[in-house]
Amino acid sequence: MDTQKLIIIGSGPAGYTAAIYAARADLAPVLFTGQQPGGQLMLTSEVENWPGEADGVMGPDLMEKLKKQAAKFGTQIIDDTITSVDFSSRPFKVTSASNGEFQAESIIISTGASAKWLDIPGEKKLQGRGVSACATCDGFFFRDKKIIVVGGGDSAMEEATFLTKFAREVVIIVRTDKLRASKIMQEKAQKNPKISFLWNTSPVELIGEERLTGVKVVDARTKIESVVDTDGFFVAIGHQPNTKIFVPAIDVDQVGYIKHAPDSTATNIPGVFACGDVIDAHYRQAVTAAGSGCMAALQAERWLANNPPPGMGE
Ligand code: NDP
Repeated sequence: MDTQKLIIIGSGPAGYTAAIYAARADLAPVLFTGQQPGGQLMLTSEVENWPGEADGVMGPDLMEKLKKQAAKFGTQIIDDTITSVDFSSRPFKVTSASNGEFQAESIIISTGASAKWLDIPGEKKLQGRGVSACATCDGFFFRDKKIIVVGGGDSAMEEATFLTKFAREVVIIVRTDKLRASKIMQEKAQKNPKISFLWNTSPVELIGEERLTGVKVVDARTKIESVVDTDGFFVAIGHQPNTKIFVPAIDVDQVGYIKHAPDSTATNIPGVFACGDVIDAHYRQAVTAAGSGCMAALQAERWLANNPPPGMGE
């Protein structure tokens, strides 16, 4: 089996940017796209804050451009998912779902994060039948309908505001009496005449057979349960980093984000780097992910130069 210089796991802005830099540095990277090629931006519509795209760019179009740019400089892109890793010795080994085992002298992890679910009765059964975690993917199907959005952070404000393009009414359910969202996003949602808030309330069950018809909620103060009728239910309570396959080899924090040295993408294993949303609970922007992808590639390049395996480098 050939040993690659660098394997990149994940194909969001972090992974593709790492690939562009690594390929231009002659590392001939092999990139595995994962289950959702292109990452979270494939689920968005217009991205207005990607620098250089003054007129905005559609998320999937941006990812296609990044993919093309990575391939242009010689990245080998494999549409497959890594299911397990062995970082116990060099070369590092990764096993893919459909193409067997690969090995590499260095690794960049850029597996991103996925939307969290509430894990309440009815939620799984009614996904795609009124229940969603992606307003930009599914909002279109709720024209003139009533929608409930759960969450009090920026994601919830953004999703709710976006959904008012289609819905007749959007109710944001917040489990406490305060929002965690930034002031500007709060104000935007609060000023929107189609949006109202239900405070101190948690959903406990989603109701419906063929389609969602309502949500059973509980009031945190009185503990009284009631049913709120709705056509749509959007969960916007944050994200979970995709790090299951790397634990316990790679150190993660309590939530599951990969721990990394300050101002660095280095993990606890020399030669394994991590970038993008998988290390970032704070900014989670495409452009910050791309920036950390660049850092990871530069660090991998330097590390390989300083730690050449037998027969490589020199
Ligand atoms: P956050 O962690 O900021 O907020 C999650 C929200 O969901 C909180 O209000 C939390 O409540 C609530 N919540 C969590 N679990 C549950 C539950 N089981 N039941 C009910 N409510 C629950 O996540 P976000 O995804 O909103 O934001 C993450 C980061 O991404 C932030 O830094 C944010 O600024 C950024 N972001 C920026 C955007 C932008 O600038 N355009 C858009 C989206 C996100 P509680 O407060 O009680 O814990």
